Amino acid sequence: MTTSLSQTSLHDLGVQQLAAALASKQISAVEAAEYFLNRGAAHSALGAYVDVNREVTLAQAGACDARLAAGTAGALEGVPIAHKDIFATQGFVTTAGSRMLKDYQSPFDATVVAKLGAGVAGIAGAGMVTLGKLNCDEFAMGSSNENSAVAPVGHDAPAAVRNPWNTDRIPGGSSGGSAVAVAARLAPAATGTDTGGSIRQPASFCGITGIKPTYGRASRYGMVAYASSLDQAGPMARSAEDCALLLSAMCGPDLDRDSTSLDVPAEDYSRSLNDSIEGLRIGIPQEFFGAGLSDDVRAAVNAALAEFEKLGAKLVPISLPRTELSIPVYYIIAPAEASSNLSRFDGVKFGHRAKQYTDLADMYQKTRSEGFGEEVQRRIMIGTYVLSHGYYDAYYLQAQKIRRMIADDFQNAFKVCDVIAGPVAPTVAWKLGEKSDDPLANYLADIFTLPASLAGLPGMSLPVGFSNTAQDQGMPIGMQLIGNYFKEAQLLNAAHRFQLATDFHAAKPAGY
Ligand code: GLN
Repeated sequence: MTTSLSQTSLHDLGVQQLAAALASKQISAVEAAEYFLNRGAAHSALGAYVDVNREVTLAQAGACDARLAAGTAGALEGVPIAHKDIFATQGFVTTAGSRMLKDYQSPFDATVVAKLGAGVAGIAGAGMVTLGKLNCDEFAMGSSNENSAVAPVGHDAPAAVRNPWNTDRIPGGSSGGSAVAVAARLAPAATGTDTGGSIRQPASFCGITGIKPTYGRASRYGMVAYASSLDQAGPMARSAEDCALLLSAMCGPDLDRDSTSLDVPAEDYSRSLNDSIEGLRIGIPQEFFGAGLSDDVRAAVNAALAEFEKLGAKLVPISLPRTELSIPVYYIIAPAEASSNLSRFDGVKFGHRAKQYTDLADMYQKTRSEGFGEEVQRRIMIGTYVLSHGYYDAYYLQAQKIRRMIADDFQNAFKVCDVIAGPVAPTVAWKLGEKSDDPLANYLADIFTLPASLAGLPGMSLPVGFSNTAQDQGMPIGMQLIGNYFKEAQLLNAAHRFQLATDFHAAKPAGY
């Protein structure tokens, strides 16, 4: 290692810097992997990882070093990454945070994992090394990561995933482990999935940057299904610049494996990062700044908007009149799809099976009662109810109609603005346990992320400040940017220009 590199802690380097250090052989992929494996183990109290496998990780890193030596390296060759445990990965467990899949080992890699890693038939991989699997809410259902049924590495039983900015707080969910790993510098980057906010909200709560692309932009193949018409993969990292590199590697068609992936070629999202945002029209939806928004979040988002104005952007008042309806609509559609998706977990084909039962029906019942946690069972029941004969028209069909109107509202807004900005969540991260007995309180906190999900639009979260109230002092605050279909590059460009002018994204929690 050169002097300049050894003076910097490796964990302070972002994806781009690590890729450069690896490409110029200042450090080897094996050295980087070992460093981050050790760092993850040293901070196991945070509960971020649910599985690591040193041998597999080091073997991948060794292969990266060989490609680096041979001059056949991918764009991010040897840079470590950790995956939300909702992505199928060979060599690690794939639990989806559920007892149902506790020891499940996938025989294949999710397309996103393969594209970031060693590649998939016909598509070259970016060459990243998998550090392990990250905790999440069971089947990605939740906003606090308190719904995981899996014991994190270094723990004997399921344990809270802790926010490194204040370890008595939730990290957000469902991609809580991903947000914690990046915020605490246990990994330079992580994957997440976002069905109704699960990349944006934990990114906001942990002070990192994350983006959910347009629905269908990244393949869902090998992502454990929650609500198929909403689920999207995306990167979580420290900066928009790093997210752009990762997203460029993750996206693109995968029609043989996911028929809902869009037949649009992959894009280089880094290309336009530095473009000027002079004249960018930022729509400000009045419904995102109503009475439910806490003062600290409002102040930080407003200050960020003022910064955007300084950078040449113009603020345009807009309305997304059905924002409030996105909660009942999402909590009908998502459980409906979940109840159907989760019917495959019956004790016959996958995962857990009850030890004792009298007949087939009893086996199904016991298996599913034992295998699924409370929140998942609640959603299966809601979903089954809204799809049942006699209620389908009143709930499911009605929700689908309003979903379309929510999407239309966005198209109306995009007639007068280029991107839309607002808060990610009404408050900063709450205390562990504070809302764990109150599912409705959790659902309501999703209000600002659900509309873009229902419309299938790209959305991102970027750090814009910290709370300065007595009770929430120092907790990170994120701002959301929503773009029109396929406008990921525009979101990343705006976020990058903001990050060039400010340093909220560079702040890290004390002790990490
Ligand atoms: N909090 C939302 C839910 O519980 C969103 C989760 C997600 O995006 N996976 O469904």
